[in-house]
Amino acid sequence: MRSPYFERLSEVKSDPRLRRLIALGDKAKVSQIIKAIVARSKRAGQFKSRFAYAPLILLYHRVAELPSDSQLLSVTPDHFAEHLEILRRYARPMALRDMVRALRENKVPRRAVAVTFDDGYADNLHNAKPLLERYEIPATVYVSSGYVDTSREFVHDTLEGLLLQPGSLPRRLELTFGEHTHQWDLGEHAHYSEDEYQKNRAWHVLKTEDPTARHSVYRSLCQLVYALSDAERRAALDVLMKWAGTRFACRSAYRVLGSEEIRILAKDGLVDVGSHTVTHPVLSARPSADQRDEVQRSKACLEEILDRPVSSFAYPYGTRSDYTENLCHRTRSRI
Ligand SMILES: [Zn+2]
Repeated sequence: MRSPYFERLSEVKSDPRLRRLIALGDKAKVSQIIKAIVARSKRAGQFKSRFAYAPLILLYHRVAELPSDSQLLSVTPDHFAEHLEILRRYARPMALRDMVRALRENKVPRRAVAVTFDDGYADNLHNAKPLLERYEIPATVYVSSGYVDTSREFVHDTLEGLLLQPGSLPRRLELTFGEHTHQWDLGEHAHYSEDEYQKNRAWHVLKTEDPTARHSVYRSLCQLVYALSDAERRAALDVLMKWAGTRFACRSAYRVLGSEEIRILAKDGLVDVGSHTVTHPVLSARPSADQRDEVQRSKACLEEILDRPVSSFAYPYGTRSDYTENLCHRTRSRI
C-alpha cells in the first residue's frame, strides 16, 4: 500500500535489496522515515540470506519554500532539517556509492540510509547542501544535463506556471499530438483570480478532485507531454505559449543548477553527482537510439563539468513502466 506522503519505488534495478522511498512534498513525515527504517531493520533481522541487509534510499527533489507544489516535489528547509536530524539520530546515513560497495561485499550496516535528489534543481545547492553539511550527511544529486545553463524549466513547472497562476487565458485550447487532436474549455476559469488561486494553491496531483477546469487541463497535459520526445515537448510548449500570448521565462525558483554550481555542489565530496538523462524523458517510450543518446550524453556532459568520471545514473520517473530490463542492462554497460 502506498503511504500518503512517501511513495516506495521498486527502484535501483541492479539490486532487489535496495528500495527507494520518494518524499512526496512537504507533508512527507519524519515518522514515516522512522517507520521505514525500523521496518527494514526488522526485515534485516528476519532474513539471513538474500535480504540479510535492507538499506533504504530516500528520494527527494527539492528543498524550498514554494507558494504551491502541484507535483509534491518540495520539502521546506525546516522539515528537511528535521528529516536529517532523525537520520543522524536513528539511522546510519551513508553515501549511495558506499552503500552499493557495502552491498557487493555483504557488509551493509543495519539502518543504512542514503539521501538522493533527482532532477538537479538549484535549491539542492543553496538550500539542501548547507543542511547536509550541518548534519554531515552525504547525498547524491541526479542532474538532467540538458537543463544545465539554460533558461528552461521542467515541463511540469512550465505547465504549472502557465495554467495554475492567476490571470487570463483564452477560453478554448486545441492541441494536436501525433494523430490526435485534443480540445479543452476553461469555461469560467479562463480568468483565474488571485483569490481563487490562493484558495486552490494547496492542490496537488494526488488529489482526486480538480477544483477548476485549469487543474484538469494541467493534469491532462502533464500526462500527454510526458511520453513525448524533447522536440515534441518543445513544439507543444511553443503552441501553448502562443495560445497564452506569453513568452514564459524561467522563474529563478524553478531553475536547474548551472555548471559552476554543480562544481561547487560536488567540491568537497559530501555530495556526489549522478546523471539523470539529458532531457528527462520516459526512457522506455523512446527508441533505443534515443535511449543510448540520453544516457551517454548526460554522463559525458557532467563528466566534462566535473572533470572526473560520473558512474551513477537514475531513471527519470522511475516507476516500473518507465524502464525495461533491456534498457537497464544497456545502461549499466555504459555507466
Ligand atoms: Zn526526475
